[in-house]
Amino acid sequence: MQDPAPILRVRNLRTYFHADGTLVRAVDGVSFDVPAGRAVGLAGESGSGKTQTALSILGLLDTAPGIVSGDVWINQTNLLADLDAYCTLTLNGNPTVKKEVVRWRQVHEERLRAIRGRLVSMVFQEPKSSLIPYRTLRQQMRETLNVAQAPSDDDAIHALLEDLQFAQPRRIADSYPHELSGGESQRAMLGLALAGNPQLLIADEPTTLLDALTQRRVLDLLQKLVANTRVALLLITHNLAMMRLLVEDVVILFGGTVVEAGPVEDVLTNAPEHGHPYTKDLLQALDPSATLAATPLNTEKNLAGCRYFHRCRLKDALPESMRTRCLEEQPPPHPVAEGHTVACWARSDA
Ligand code: SF4
Repeated sequence: MQDPAPILRVRNLRTYFHADGTLVRAVDGVSFDVPAGRAVGLAGESGSGKTQTALSILGLLDTAPGIVSGDVWINQTNLLADLDAYCTLTLNGNPTVKKEVVRWRQVHEERLRAIRGRLVSMVFQEPKSSLIPYRTLRQQMRETLNVAQAPSDDDAIHALLEDLQFAQPRRIADSYPHELSGGESQRAMLGLALAGNPQLLIADEPTTLLDALTQRRVLDLLQKLVANTRVALLLITHNLAMMRLLVEDVVILFGGTVVEAGPVEDVLTNAPEHGHPYTKDLLQALDPSATLAATPLNTEKNLAGCRYFHRCRLKDALPESMRTRCLEEQPPPHPVAEGHTVACWARSDA
C-alpha cells in the first residue's frame, strides 16, 4: 500500500553556525518525510544533529549568527520559503555566516503561528520551560483549545486530562507548573500539545528527565496515541528501544547528515549486512560493555568525505581506492531495499 501524503516534508535542510572562527555544519542536507498518521523517529547520539534538526524545523534555534536553509513543508506551508533573503553565507577564505536574525525569526514565527496547535504541536524534554509559569494548566489548555476551535469548557479539559491518566484532573487543571512533578509536567505538556488535535506531534526526548516508572507511563501514552489516533509523530531520541516500540520508520543521523533511513524493523531490528556501519556501532553500543569513540567535530576541516570516516571500522577492510573515495566524497543515500537507504560507498553499487 502506498504511504499517505507527508504532513512534514524536509528537504536539504542546512543549519550552520560560525563559532570561534570555524564553520560548524550542525545539520547538513537532511531530507525526510513524515507521512500523515505515521510515526517516524530521528535517532543518533548526542551531537548527531537530531535536536538541531527539530529546532531548525520549528525556528527555535537560539544561537546566532546562524543560517537555516532548505525546505520545511508542513502540509501546504513551506516555513523556510524565501528566508534566504535574510541570510548570507560566504565559504571562501574566512567563512562567514550573517543573518538578519530578528527579521528571520519574525517571518518564520508568523508562518508557524498560523499552524501551531492546529497542525503541529511539540513536546520537549524540559516541559517546565515550555509551560507558562504564571498560568494554571486549565488556563493554558483553554487557550490552546480555543485557538483550535475545540470545546474548551471544564468537562472537555478534565476529559483530556483523564485520557492522560491523571486520577485527579480537577486538581491538575488548577495547578501552576511549579506545583506539578516532573512526570505530571511532561504529561501536562503532552495534554497541551494534543489539545488542539494537531496532525503532527514533534516530541524531542520526551522521557529523558523522568524516572523509570514515569517514563513507562509517558511511553504508554505515546504508544496509545500512535495506535489510536491519526496524529503523525516525529520522535527524536537517542533511545533505540523507545524507537523500536513507537515508530514505523527511522532516520539515523550522524554528523548532521542522514546516514540511513527506512522501516524500523529493517534498520534497527534486523540490522542487515548492508546496513550503515554507524547504525551497527549504535546497536552494538547498547551492549553495556561496548564503547563508542568520541564524535569528531563536524567542522569545515572534515567536510569533504564521509562524516563517519574517522570512526568507521569497515573502511579498513576496503581497497585503497575506495578508502580514498570515503575520505574525499560524501556518499549519497543509496537504496538497499524498498524504502530503505544507506549513505555509504561500501554499500553502493556506484
Ligand atoms: S563511506 Fe566509507 S567511511 Fe563512510 S561509512 Fe561507508 S565505508 Fe565507512
